Amino acid sequence: MLYHSTRGLDGSRSFSEVLHSGLAEDGGLFVPETVPTLNRETIDKWKHYSYEELAVEIISLFSGDCFSRSELTDIVYQSYSGFQHEIKSPLTKLEENHFLLELFHGPTLAFKDFAMQVIAKMFARTLQKKNLKINIVTATSGDTGSAAVEAFKNVSNVNLYVLYPHERISQIQRMQMTTANATNIKVFAVQGTFDDCQSIVKRLFADKELVSDVNLSGVNSINWARILIQTVYYFSAFYQMKFVSGEKVSFCVPTGNFGDAYAGYLAKKMGLPINKIIVATNENDILDRVFKTGSYKSDQVSQTLSPSMDIQVASNFERLLFDLLNKDPKKVCELMNELAKKGGFNVDKKIIKQILKDFDSGAVTDKDTVTTIDQFYHSREVILCPHSAIGVRVAQDFVNAGETVISLGTAHPAKFKDTVESALNISIPIPLPLKDLIKKNENVKVISPDEGLVAEEIRNSKFTSY
Ligand SMILES: *Cc1c(COP(=O)(O)O)cnc(C)c1O
Repeated sequence: MLYHSTRGLDGSRSFSEVLHSGLAEDGGLFVPETVPTLNRETIDKWKHYSYEELAVEIISLFSGDCFSRSELTDIVYQSYSGFQHEIKSPLTKLEENHFLLELFHGPTLAFKDFAMQVIAKMFARTLQKKNLKINIVTATSGDTGSAAVEAFKNVSNVNLYVLYPHERISQIQRMQMTTANATNIKVFAVQGTFDDCQSIVKRLFADKELVSDVNLSGVNSINWARILIQTVYYFSAFYQMKFVSGEKVSFCVPTGNFGDAYAGYLAKKMGLPINKIIVATNENDILDRVFKTGSYKSDQVSQTLSPSMDIQVASNFERLLFDLLNKDPKKVCELMNELAKKGGFNVDKKIIKQILKDFDSGAVTDKDTVTTIDQFYHSREVILCPHSAIGVRVAQDFVNAGETVISLGTAHPAKFKDTVESALNISIPIPLPLKDLIKKNENVKVISPDEGLVAEEIRNSKFTSY
């Protein structure tokens, strides 16, 4: 399986090259040359597979000769051994025709663990084989950073640099990153928004000399491997529905960067019987607006109760555009140049019509987020995190219209303890690993949004020879 950039200048890359580089050299995102489609028989055959077996099947369709079957099996089993639930992504019923896919049983209690655990083990193996060292830089709205710190701490051959927006994430999210106490990890609090962090990362990647001098790599959802690994839980969820035949389900996905939603779309393209991917946003509703009006225009980032989705540049949307523009990189470049110059672009009506065959969308205010948390606690004794509540709220409109919907539960409510406790007026139980955090020392450097400062740290890091 070979990969090409959405902007056309970086092509014919192997899975391991795509894994290591994160962003393509031309600034685009890597996509596979073709998406393998599964026939009915295969989809049927997999229905009794464990989570790990599904992961091995799906990842091996895309990873070429990067790993042998037994290596991939080792990676997958090790990655999910620390999850606190046997099914890994269990499905629970919320109301008639509405289910919650619990993606928060991993070590840092958010869905990011699903891909990050696997990626870290993939990096460890491939780097060791090639005797390479690598510097990973990642921007985070809170959960990617904590998942990455947990997955990469003490992985030899890797230094990890995490950038999060100063004072815009929850205390627990921050402490999961700043208390790691590992020599290969450095955490920066950037005085700005998530978009500022993400644009620092993009500018670092644009510095070709730096990229090659220090082997710079990224693990944001611009990294193809993350998207791929996240498709597995869509399959797992579908099989847990135990449909008899021919039934379809929609997934409602709380999203900001369009990563998780794109993973669902990929599962659909592979042949999983999905009706719609319903995109749910908070007040940072660029995706809901583009689906409804065709105008993709980034606004100021508003700070909401769902900080992991406080994003105005939905990077993975470029992958969808590439697909719908008949894989024409020139057209993608035109739109991306317009975005860079004018802060937005318009998507053709025909393309929006095409998008709406696979997607729907909705946006939720903070007030409705709180109401939804309250409603499901009082009617069902389910405690939702604010992000999951956004998905559940948007899904309700579709459930009421007769669809069967699985909403993605993207994080454990305890990660957003203050918001959830003030919505419910109760104190919520804190899982053990989070209780221990509070006692630890924090290690973080506050910086202005200047990529030069980060580049200098990377160059001065203890990895002197590559
Ligand atoms: C990262 C995150 C999201 C948004 O994920 P995307 O990659 O933007 O699709 C939603 N909820 C939680 C809890 C997250 O950590």
